[in-house]
Amino acid sequence: MNSPARPVFRFAPSPNGELHLGHACSALLNSDLAAALRGRLLLRIEDIDITRCTPAFEAALLRDLAWLGIGWEEPVRRQSEHFGEYRVLLQRLIDEELVYPAFMSRGEIRAHIAQVETSGARWPRDPDGAPLYPASDKTLSRAERQRRIDSGMPFAWRLDMDAALARVAAPLSWQEFSDMTLAGAETVAARPQDWGDVVIARREIPTSYHLSVIVDDALQGISHVVRGRDLYFATAVQRLLQTLLGLPEPRYFHHRLILGPDGRKLSKSLGDSGLAALRANGVTPEEIRRMVGL
Ligand code: GLU
Repeated sequence: MNSPARPVFRFAPSPNGELHLGHACSALLNSDLAAALRGRLLLRIEDIDITRCTPAFEAALLRDLAWLGIGWEEPVRRQSEHFGEYRVLLQRLIDEELVYPAFMSRGEIRAHIAQVETSGARWPRDPDGAPLYPASDKTLSRAERQRRIDSGMPFAWRLDMDAALARVAAPLSWQEFSDMTLAGAETVAARPQDWGDVVIARREIPTSYHLSVIVDDALQGISHVVRGRDLYFATAVQRLLQTLLGLPEPRYFHHRLILGPDGRKLSKSLGDSGLAALRANGVTPEEIRRMVGL
């Protein structure tokens, strides 16, 4: 008789700053759940932003995790070592005309939106509050796109959200566990359209957060994605990409966020809630657990 597959969890930090209590919460919860469900815990370093991620931050986060008492399976997957794998899937999306080169700079986007909003209309924003990308580049001819690319103009590959949605038959959804015991799950309707034409890759980096996350979750056989609530709505985009590329669907649990004393989300520049600073101040891993409610 086949034994049921072991659940596979992952902790996937970006080494672009120090780990804080929010990361500790995610990492400890993944580790606890993997232990409780006799699963595996993988560590993935999400370092596609090669200008902001550094080996020093990576070394520091490995130290912080070990100090917390977290163990993971080797080898660690480092995304910057796998650009070739992301490029293959990007090429599929290009060939299927699901992405297009988008040339507007941040300044041009801002100016375009400001101009539309002078008439009193409000430009649509995504769930994180960022303005959606204006659709103007979609009307460029194939020849004009190629001319701009050949001339060295900066661009990003953006998902053609309308074309992508037209390609998926059924309404999209995901399974979200109701609480951190992962006992019951509910179906959440996914609304990728709320994000507009998201960036899938850059000219110089053949991937983006969304693309590399879904590729890696599939390649690593992740069955349970446990991460902070700040990525709850982004799951809609990831479910769309998984569906377009025929990748398996993990189940999700988005845990509550650990907020700073001012009630705001912790950021990597908030020194006091950094794990290294807490450790230097004599805080123990057990106290960290209590501080994050575990
Ligand atoms: N790398 C992301 C972060 O540092 C997490 C990605 C994920 O868990 O899906 O916030």
